[in-house]
Amino acid sequence: MSKSRFRIAIDGPGGAGKSTISKIVAARLGLEYVDTGAMYRAIGLKLTEEGVNPEDLDGVERVLGHTRIEFSDGRILLDGRDVSGSIRTPEVSKAASSFSRIPCVRKKLGDLQRIMSETSDVVMDGRDIGTNVIKDAELKIFLTADPMVRAQRRFRELQEKGKAVGVTLEMVYQDICQRDYQDTHRELNPLSKAEDAVEIDTSHMTIPDVTDAIVRLAEERRK
Ligand code: C5P
Repeated sequence: MSKSRFRIAIDGPGGAGKSTISKIVAARLGLEYVDTGAMYRAIGLKLTEEGVNPEDLDGVERVLGHTRIEFSDGRILLDGRDVSGSIRTPEVSKAASSFSRIPCVRKKLGDLQRIMSETSDVVMDGRDIGTNVIKDAELKIFLTADPMVRAQRRFRELQEKGKAVGVTLEMVYQDICQRDYQDTHRELNPLSKAEDAVEIDTSHMTIPDVTDAIVRLAEERRK
């Protein structure tokens, strides 16, 4: 990897603010933004639509063989179809987390993500970017926040998008806790802080506070 590369890995649990913050940081630093959670969500959506369950490993592998995931103008395309909106539901969150522990799913998406990080300078967010996908990233950030604060953020997001019908804050909180458990306890590439990552607890920080802190760290490292 040449010295001029600059890649930022941002990991952390759901609702810590990763995608909002990563998008702003990428725009401010002139880097590409890659939302790897969206890729797992797109796979979760496809497998759910195809009626495959996470225990059916042959079924998962068969469907993956004819599944195409791409980004275009900040939208995520599943087999050419824009699914940027439909992947943001509690059901797809759960499906993404359940299917993401399957080795062939992680291999397919990990390989794709590695290619993206080799061809462009990126801000890539997810769960295993600093520990697995870009182990030699120039800057690694681990974003956390109190689970109730994260649930409140997710709930507000759902309300703003008109997707909170029949959903309560308590349900979102339970989902977040369950997903944290699944993501940190899976065998393959579990969510964990890379040793050389800078941890930022966003519970009591505003979005501009967090983005300023990351941009400052990036500018120091870039010198
Ligand atoms: O970040 P987001 O909430 O959109 O991610 C959805 C799910 O995708 C996570 O709960 C996790 O199970 C999975 N994921 C993963 N590895 C990543 C990104 C997301 O396993 N790098």
